[in-house]
Amino acid sequence: MRITIFGSGYVGLVTGACLADVGHDVICVDVDEAKVARLEAGEVPIYEPGLESLIRQNQAAGRLRFTTDAAKGVAFGLLQFIAVGTPSDEDGSADLRHVLKVAETIGRHMTEYRIIVDKSTVPVGTASKVERVVAAELDRRGVELEFDVCSNPEFLKEGAAIEDFSRGSRIVVGTESERVKSAMRECYGPYNRQQEKLMFMAVRSAELTKYAANAMLATKISFINEIANLAERLGADVEEVRHGIGSDPRIGYSFIYPGCGYGGSCFPKDVKALAHTAEAAGYPAEMIGAVERVNGRQKGKLFEKLCLAFDGQLAGKTIALWGLAFKPNTDDMREAPSRALMEALWQAGARVQAFDPEAAEECRRLYGERDDLILAERRDEALEGAHALVICTEWKAFRTVDFARLRETLLEPVVVDGRNLYHPDSVKAAGLGYYAIGRGDSV
Ligand code: NAD
Repeated sequence: MRITIFGSGYVGLVTGACLADVGHDVICVDVDEAKVARLEAGEVPIYEPGLESLIRQNQAAGRLRFTTDAAKGVAFGLLQFIAVGTPSDEDGSADLRHVLKVAETIGRHMTEYRIIVDKSTVPVGTASKVERVVAAELDRRGVELEFDVCSNPEFLKEGAAIEDFSRGSRIVVGTESERVKSAMRECYGPYNRQQEKLMFMAVRSAELTKYAANAMLATKISFINEIANLAERLGADVEEVRHGIGSDPRIGYSFIYPGCGYGGSCFPKDVKALAHTAEAAGYPAEMIGAVERVNGRQKGKLFEKLCLAFDGQLAGKTIALWGLAFKPNTDDMREAPSRALMEALWQAGARVQAFDPEAAEECRRLYGERDDLILAERRDEALEGAHALVICTEWKAFRTVDFARLRETLLEPVVVDGRNLYHPDSVKAAGLGYYAIGRGDSV
């Protein structure tokens, strides 16, 4: 099948590479010339396990190409995927500028029937907006052409994106059209062999499904963080509570890890967008607003704990940070808790010495060269001359630590663990103060 994908970010690249890998012919279109040039040269601008080799193999096989030429893209695929960004607008609503721009581009260049597939996360009603924009553009050109718009939200997780795309639990498609259903069956056929994963539903239901899924996951995180904060005040250990509740199959263990708040490109903006949708629909969605507020507060926890450890005297201190990415196995720092912490530390006059296995370049891009930020090459290098260690991301490389050596290296015995990676007794036995999330003795 010939497939065009607008947007070569996390979702567009993974979708393009995976669909090419099962034999489709794919063209990825992006407006970012530098990005396309790098991709054409076989360089992948983001870190995602397995993606680079998948892109290279399929490029070499001639099934995956990159271009900035939108007209070429529109002429190419029966399916025109929209996988461009939908950032938060100032009021929290999803900014559809890029999505509608692609719709306009498709309307401007199409010369035969096309199926437009909304893969970007977009609010309920967006497919109708896309339809109106394409129709208006065709009208302007004075041509009459058939087209369909369907919703096909993406559920992949950064860090495990290829696995999720290839072996995800479901493929949601919002459409009433038989023609679209048959084309989407053909597109996803190779991923739908073992069990039926395609779920056809109304367009508006598909659009809402994506927001409901992310809001549910974010709710689980904020819920356990709320319990963690309570546990701190009550002298309980949230890790024991987590085991106690996760063992109930009705609750389960996933997404109930307490920590320093969720970040990334999706949960924060999608929760905000859903809250905005609810407001616009005249429905006071109490829980959704609370999920976001709890998360905002949680992101301030690491700084709060450092203030506690240093009696508010952070000026002139050097703080080692392990982990900058919003989660392991990605270099994405969008809305990462590490950013809230670094910015608060700088404000307080402290210096940051950070190590992340993948996100150093992204951090440099975001903050540039500054005297109060050192990006270390190795995790132990970040500790040299540091007064305290803070864990922001649960990379595997941080799981095992020689605490006695850590105690010798740090200028002050302070470990703030935003991911509850260690057993409090092991850290404390080395003479270190251990400030974790929801573990009894540190508020
Ligand atoms: P991204 O910011 O990484 O990439 C978007 C790309 O679109 C950029 O390369 C940009 O240059 C390009 N672009 C912008 N306007 C364009 C245009 N008019 N024509 C062609 N290209 C254009 O975004 P992302 O993380 O891949 O997310 C894309 C969408 O998928 C968002 O709606 C997001 O919410 C959703 N989503 C993301 C994830 C994730 O984990 N990142 C998961 C599921 C869904």
